[in-house]
Amino acid sequence: DTSFESGVKVQSEAMFQRAKQVIPGGISANIKYFPPHPIVMKQANGSHLIDVDDQRYIDYLLCYGALITGHGHDRIVKATTEHMQQIGTTIFGTPHELEVKMAEKLINLYPGIDMVRFTNSGLEATLLAIRMAIAYTGKEKIGKFEGHYHGGFNQVLLSVNPSEKEAGNPRQPHAIPESKGIPTHELKQTIILPFNDLEATENILRENAHQLAAIIIEPIQGGFIPAEPEFINGLRKLTEDLDILLIFDEVKTGFRVHLGGAQSVYQIKPDLTALGKVLGGGFPVGAVGGKKDIMMISAPTQESDIFSVGGESRRKNDVVFHSGTYNGHPIVLAAGLETIRLLEEDHTMEKLFNKTSRLRSSLEKLYRQYDIPMKTIGMGSIFNIILTNQPIRNYRDMWKANSSLRQTIDLELLNLGIYVKPLNRYSLSIVHTEEDINQTVEAHEQAIVKAIM
Ligand code: PMP
Repeated sequence: DTSFESGVKVQSEAMFQRAKQVIPGGISANIKYFPPHPIVMKQANGSHLIDVDDQRYIDYLLCYGALITGHGHDRIVKATTEHMQQIGTTIFGTPHELEVKMAEKLINLYPGIDMVRFTNSGLEATLLAIRMAIAYTGKEKIGKFEGHYHGGFNQVLLSVNPSEKEAGNPRQPHAIPESKGIPTHELKQTIILPFNDLEATENILRENAHQLAAIIIEPIQGGFIPAEPEFINGLRKLTEDLDILLIFDEVKTGFRVHLGGAQSVYQIKPDLTALGKVLGGGFPVGAVGGKKDIMMISAPTQESDIFSVGGESRRKNDVVFHSGTYNGHPIVLAAGLETIRLLEEDHTMEKLFNKTSRLRSSLEKLYRQYDIPMKTIGMGSIFNIILTNQPIRNYRDMWKANSSLRQTIDLELLNLGIYVKPLNRYSLSIVHTEEDINQTVEAHEQAIVKAIM
């Protein structure tokens, strides 16, 4: 069943119909669509969203995890407005102090980061990391894991969500494009690897090491399927031995499983790290950090001559090009720095993680009472609900879960004022309350009863 309770989301549906006339599919990001139609919001406050029909929701999407301080936190609003007033502009378009402050902060928090470059999105961060790796190693292919998302560009928009029919041998997955418009010759530039299968990954890496610049990985797939320690340690050692760079995509996990990301949990130093989401405190952001000698490949030198036009003795090809009108935006960084300050105060992370654990265990208990096979998996402030008793170690294991029941429950939760994009993970914020948690568990019970009736 894919319809909302009748008469409840009338304005949302009308707005969506209007949007479809002028915006392809009515959404500005494809993943924001779900049937019967997305819900259109008009306001938010703390842990709550309010839609155009005046319905309130407890928000567990939190802008795909970005809003760890919830919606419109006083301290974030104050820090950004005051910074804007203090500097007298929205953006300088030149270097400024907050870039240095944030870089210093990230170097302190992230074991794999010696230097930092800022971007405007997670996508731009992974793109830059990959370009740096190719430039640094002189090799041209990259490896990525099946089921892992790194943003929507050709090199990595492969085998994110392949169907059972097309995915191929689990130990040697096919490269399946997630989009039309990716030239077929580009598919050969990326090798798809099986997550949490060290032996199969090792075989593929050994065979292709001479061509592989880097392996990019979500250390916790989708933010909720953790790499097994043995696997990720093995991968670190293997990539070192084979002269392949290891890129941790911590866009989801950064500041959410630990202030210093998954690399601090696993105590592994990747060569490069991509950050985003929480780093911007609710504003668009990304960053690449990493080892100094790799990062320095993006530093212009006088000889690199990127400033002149024409001329023979140009050496700009020795430098990795990285630019962006809004890179290092001061207001974004003011929001990000205040977010990190908030997270560093008063055992905030610990409290957030405990709250998340309480929600997880209450939900697990509830589903057990109704004899529905279910587990929650995740780390820190992110988790997902998987309707199965089977182990979930990689993308393909998710096929075993009862996703149609999950979808029915999720849709009912939207009727009941709990906002999760159907089948998506749950992210919590520091402003979710005990009452929110209790209401969420109660709503789940109502949704379960309705779904299995
Ligand atoms: N990498 C990961 C792991 C992500 O989760 C995302 C966004 N969901 C991205 C990269 C891309 O980030 P953005 O949407 O900011 O471009």
